[in-house]
Amino acid sequence: MQVVSLQESKLSNSSPSQPEFALRAFSLEKTYPAQKGLTSKHALKGVDLDIPVGSIFGLLGPNGAGKSTLINIFAGLVKKTAGRAEIWGVDIDDNPRQARAAIGVVPQEINMDPFFTPIESVEYQAGFYGVPKSQRRTKEILQAVGLQDKAKAYVRTLSGGMKRRLLIAKALVHSPPVLVLDEPTAGVDIDLRRQLWDYVRELNSRGATIVLTTHYLEEAQELCDRIAIINHGEVVACEAKESLLGRIDQKTLIIQPQEKLQKIPKDLQKLDIDLNENGALIIRYNSAAQGVASLIEKVRACGIRIDDLQTKEPDLEDVFLELTKDVTNNEGAQA
Ligand code: ADP
Ligand code: MG
Repeated sequence: MQVVSLQESKLSNSSPSQPEFALRAFSLEKTYPAQKGLTSKHALKGVDLDIPVGSIFGLLGPNGAGKSTLINIFAGLVKKTAGRAEIWGVDIDDNPRQARAAIGVVPQEINMDPFFTPIESVEYQAGFYGVPKSQRRTKEILQAVGLQDKAKAYVRTLSGGMKRRLLIAKALVHSPPVLVLDEPTAGVDIDLRRQLWDYVRELNSRGATIVLTTHYLEEAQELCDRIAIINHGEVVACEAKESLLGRIDQKTLIIQPQEKLQKIPKDLQKLDIDLNENGALIIRYNSAAQGVASLIEKVRACGIRIDDLQTKEPDLEDVFLELTKDVTNNEGAQA
């Protein structure tokens, strides 16, 4: 896919100078009221968040964590219960139109009129945002998302991946400096996922701030430079990806002996060690406190001949599990 140059003049009028943060949330709260048969749901519990201009920012969390709720407050689709939100330096309550002009949102649900064509959908969206006919770039945008050949097909005949790309096209009509994607690759096959990642990187390199929600750790790890982890409506971590990964300096050493071990030798039992089903030793160690060489020495000293060994670095999954493991399950009745 080729890339639309986001952003000529238009958006800078949202704010005379570029702000430091693309999106900001201050003590944001959302409680969905009780409905027939359902108790109320405290979906956001005082979220504070700063998303710097220029980043590819990942909002990572399990299903039901509150990611879409947060995004949809910025998009103007969900009404917050309390707190404040700013888009491109503009408070969404003080100046909703100006705030919304700075953001393009690609929703999680694919929800489009099946009897529109992509051209019509994009044109309609441009009209909705008040983009004058002379400034519309419908063809260019459709080409950028690889839908030029389907420009005149009915939406109902498009594949799931094509529909998702059309949603991105629609979010770009008013050249917003902030593009928000809610679960962009949920249910999308691996080729298209990589293609979308490339496209997102490209948009970012042209100056767009990208915010995406995902429950795929791999996606956040691959794509994002900053990550907030959200769980049960609370932000439990928010930092640069590298520093998030650095939080855990536990590595794993896996040793496959030439002969399968039946049990862990006595001299090794003081280590944080397991035996797996292949008779290999799994040793977790703190890389700052202990070198691999001394561990290997200890194993050899037990008379074990080593066939193969590998070490595993911590990944986002380790951090994520650590941060989202439930000490108490506080899901029950809530105000
Ligand atoms: P995520 O996007 O992280 O999966 P959501 O923001 O969609 O999470 O949902 C957060 C919580 O709020 C969930 O428990 C969900 O069931 C609830 N919720 C979401 N939308 C509504 C709604 N319109 N009415 C009532 N509860 C809702
Ligand atoms: Mg969601």
